[in-house]
Amino acid sequence: MRAIPAAVALVVATFLVARSFAQPAAPLAPPAEVEALRVDLSERVPREWHRSDPDAFPLQPARWRRRLPRRCHTQGGYRLFCGGERRVPEPHGVASERASRWGLGHRWTAKLLMHTRPFDEWMQAVAHLDPDLRMTFPVPTGRLGRGFGRNRTGSLAHRRHNGVDIGAPEGTPIVAARDGLVAYSDNELTGFGNVVLLLHHEGYSTFYAHCVETLVQPGQYVRRGEVIARVGKTGFAIAPHLHFEWRQRGWVRDPARHFLPREQLASR
Ligand SMILES: [Zn+2]
Repeated sequence: MRAIPAAVALVVATFLVARSFAQPAAPLAPPAEVEALRVDLSERVPREWHRSDPDAFPLQPARWRRRLPRRCHTQGGYRLFCGGERRVPEPHGVASERASRWGLGHRWTAKLLMHTRPFDEWMQAVAHLDPDLRMTFPVPTGRLGRGFGRNRTGSLAHRRHNGVDIGAPEGTPIVAARDGLVAYSDNELTGFGNVVLLLHHEGYSTFYAHCVETLVQPGQYVRRGEVIARVGKTGFAIAPHLHFEWRQRGWVRDPARHFLPREQLASR
């Protein structure tokens, strides 16, 4: 009979040890070549991309994917968690082939990356990318709003806010926080609207929700600072904002202290 509590204790201890290994490492100082890379990249992002004028926005996909059926959940008579209009590029070309080979772009791809460790194949696919943990602020002209944690009121008070909200007018460009691989760019996650999910070096991931449209497709590699979507209010959002989440191997973290100062961007 003594064996049962011992076995339980062993399982709990194993879980705690595994969990402690999942804690994020201290932020890395970027190597010189990475620093140089970031500067070069910023020069490739036209200044007008940081404005909120949609007409000045040069990127448009060749074709949009067809609409998904409207998906709404109701709670207490209120309509909650609607998907919003799907506006994501039709997958095509090399990136599309890569995505189907690697199993990217599915609803389950996003769910997996949001809750557990990425597959080894996916870790290998991002092993060559910039390991700098610091993130470029994803909406260069946006305002940081609601932060991370249990800070909600009303019917959502029991739910932790798993990211940060960045307010900006609809159509404002959203840029990739780090070099990454697009793992998901679609509209099937309840409440989040049009979503981009990027996978980064060492299994970190960033998540961009409520976009009015996304401009990248699964299997595509993106550079830090590259425009990947535009701010909107699809999904459960009452005003245009970016809901941004940051994870390490499925464990959600507070991104606020890991953003690079925005003065660097403004001075360019
Ligand atoms: Zn949010």
